[in-house]
Parts: sequence; structure tokens; C-alpha cells
Amino acid sequence: ELITNVAHDLRTPLTSIIGYLELLSGPVKLNEEMQKKYLDITYKKSKRLQKLIEDLFGFTKLNYGKISMKVSKEDIVKLLSQMLEEFYPNFMEKNLAYELQSNVTAKVITADGNLLARLFDNLIGNAIKYGAEGKRILVKVMADTDEVQVSVTNYGYVIPAEELPLIFDKFYRVEQSRSTHTGGTGLGLAIVKHIVAVHHADIEVTSEEDKGTEITVTFHKENE
Ligand code: ATP
Ligand code: MG
Repeated sequence: ELITNVAHDLRTPLTSIIGYLELLSGPVKLNEEMQKKYLDITYKKSKRLQKLIEDLFGFTKLNYGKISMKVSKEDIVKLLSQMLEEFYPNFMEKNLAYELQSNVTAKVITADGNLLARLFDNLIGNAIKYGAEGKRILVKVMADTDEVQVSVTNYGYVIPAEELPLIFDKFYRVEQSRSTHTGGTGLGLAIVKHIVAVHHADIEVTSEEDKGTEITVTFHKENE
């Protein structure tokens, strides 16, 4: 199923790369501007292909349980603040402000740090991609003794209610054309769902005009 679904997606950028390379090395002499343009396109498409392959590889590894969890003590507040900093150029580019709110200055949980980073990479990446019109991104940590809730909120784009349960399905994208425009493969949240599951955590999404799109991950103490 995975191979069938992805065959088309892998082929599309590759076809375009081959096409432009043929033009570049073909008999027709191109001026410098055109050469640059074609090279830019093949580069962009190659990056897209790379992302697709990385996502697929990451997904299949998780899917077949080959990924071994390396669990340790992670300060989730510190991790999130570092990750937001790493995204700084992306926030800048989209003219987005971001804020990290937390009811504690530090909160140590037992989890796989790399998987947590992938999880929030996807959630924050999505918030930037789909919330670019919303002007700000909010990351919130609500910690108490039994559980820690982390939510990522963006504004500006509401997911239709009937589609909310579907966005965690692999290859599912809301409003295909728009999502294709933003370069998604629809695997991000499927990977997120899997990472959440291996941590015995929960994930929820709400999307409303005034409250924005909020994805909340809840880590439970008893499952650590
Ligand atoms: P990929 O993450 O593989 O690059 P993607 O972003 O399209 O591609 P997912 O991350 O799985 O895939 O998200 C699925 C769909 O859910 C998206 O295409 C988008 O339509 C919708 N979506 C996800 N996150 C948000 C968000 N924060 N705000 C609005 N819509 C979202
Ligand atoms: Mg995504």
C-alpha cells in the first residue's frame, strides 16, 4: 500500500528533474538566465524528492517497529525552546511571530529525544506552513504532576470539521491543491501519530476561526 501510494509522488519530481536536465544538456543553447532558472528548478525538485524519501524511510522504519526507542530524561520546555530557535529563519521568512508559554520553567519527561524532535519538527513545520497568514504561532506547555500537555497553535486557516479526524492518515492532505502548493506529502502527521503512540501519549486537534488550529500532545506520567 505504501509503495503504491508513493509511486506517483516519487515519480513526479523525478520526471521533472530528468526533463530539465535534458534541456540543459541538449542541443539547444540556453542563455545564462534560463540555465540558472532550470538549475534552480532541478535543485528544488531534488530537495523535494529527498524529503519524500526521508519521510518514507522514516515512516517505514517506524511502521515495522525497526526503530529502537532510546528513552532518557528530557526537559520538554528546553527542547521546545531550542527547536523554536532553530526555526527562526523560517519564522522570519513568513513574517511570523512566535511565543513559548509554559506554566513551569522546566519539565523533565521520560521520552526518546530524537523522536520528540521529529514530532515537534513536524507540528511546528506544519504551523508555519499552514499558518503563514495568521501572523503568530503559539507553543504552550501545561504541566502538572500526572501529565504534560504541549500544544502548537497557528491561525488563519481552519480545517473543515469533517476532515479533522483524517489529517493523521498517511498521505491525507486538506485541500489538495493548496497543500501541493506548500509542498506537502501528507506523511508528517502520520509519523507524528506513530511517535505519539510509541510514547503512549495522546494527540488531539481542534480548528476554529477565532481559536486557530491547535494540536495538543498529552504525555502521561504513568506511561513514562
Ligand atoms: P508533509 O508533512 O509530509 O510534508 P503535509 O504537511 O501535507 O506533508 P501532514 O503534516 O500529515 O502533511 O498534514 C496533513 C494535512 O493536514 C496538511 O496537508 C494540511 O492540509 C493539514 N494540516 C496539518 N497541520 C495543519 C495546521 N497546523 N494548520 C492547518 N492545517 C494543517
Ligand atoms: Mg506536514
